[in-house]
Amino acid sequence: MKDLDWSNIGFGYIRTDYNVRCCYRDGKWGEIEVSSSEHINLHMAATCLHYGQEAFEGLKAFRGKDGKVRIFRLEANAERLQSTCDGILMPQISVEMFREMVTKVVNLNKDYIPPYESGASLYIRPLIIGTSAQVGVHPASEYMFIIFVTPVGPYFKGGFSTNPYVIIREYDRSAPLGTGKYKVGGNYAASLRANKLAHDKGYSCEFYLDAREKKYIDECGAANFIGIKDNTYVTPLSTSILPSITNNSLQQIAKDMGMKVEVRPVPEEELLTFEEAGACGTAAVISPIERIDDLETGKSYVFAKDGKPGPVLTELYNRLRAIQYGDAADDYGWVTIVE
Ligand SMILES: *Cc1c(COP(=O)(O)O)cnc(C)c1O
Repeated sequence: MKDLDWSNIGFGYIRTDYNVRCCYRDGKWGEIEVSSSEHINLHMAATCLHYGQEAFEGLKAFRGKDGKVRIFRLEANAERLQSTCDGILMPQISVEMFREMVTKVVNLNKDYIPPYESGASLYIRPLIIGTSAQVGVHPASEYMFIIFVTPVGPYFKGGFSTNPYVIIREYDRSAPLGTGKYKVGGNYAASLRANKLAHDKGYSCEFYLDAREKKYIDECGAANFIGIKDNTYVTPLSTSILPSITNNSLQQIAKDMGMKVEVRPVPEEELLTFEEAGACGTAAVISPIERIDDLETGKSYVFAKDGKPGPVLTELYNRLRAIQYGDAADDYGWVTIVE
């Protein structure tokens, strides 16, 4: 194992030894290649640079107490990438090819998988880009699929904690029939201004309402929303939300905890009724929300009066982390063990 300060590595980029790549040409994917270069050689007229033909995924590998390495929900990420590729007319990557490349890149960089005790993990970033040269607006004929990994620190260094959010109405992240449900870079470019506005106002993240009516909850920055009340797990249904795999996993865990799960449109006023609220995604699992301010109406929805995460989100968080690190049984086949 590399000699890194595992508990303090944060959420940046740390170079590892290898990445894996595969190119699509003449209507098919080629051989999987291993590279030790962090750079790619790209034509200046590549479609990814001009017309945003780019998609990505994000998943993690964890080192357990038993020393084994577990990749969380590899198949679900492969399937979501297929849906995204289909959404912006890029060739799909089979689940088998995705699995082969992910396990290969994790194995090649084993020395960078943080030790169990650190609470850190190995972030896996697959990305696909249109690489062929053209200036006409149509899908590329050639693509490159790359997977690199980088160790990331424990998200909550000082322990699981809450953050303030602000409703932003000035900008939309995605349109109701747009690309919000796909994991494409363009959605992130579209969110940068809203995110900056939230930060400038002293909030940790922006909170989006639906683009059409500004009435229903969409997403919390680049994370899904979860509201808890009356032993019920509530999460919004919307055509412009990215289907979070963390959210999907937490819904199953909530059911295992004897909770009801509701996936439906959630009007802003309903925020008043939640006992706990959180944002969920691979990076943090759950980031509990302290409060959501609506600066236009002057309303402030407070979920954590003492600033502390509530008991239900804490239990959901602990149970999911336990599965990821191999401390609890993997009842649903979510974990791929790397040999
Ligand atoms: C990746 C992402 C999420 C979280 O999805 P996970 O699969 O849980 O990591 C939520 N919203 C957006 C916009 C995302 O890009």
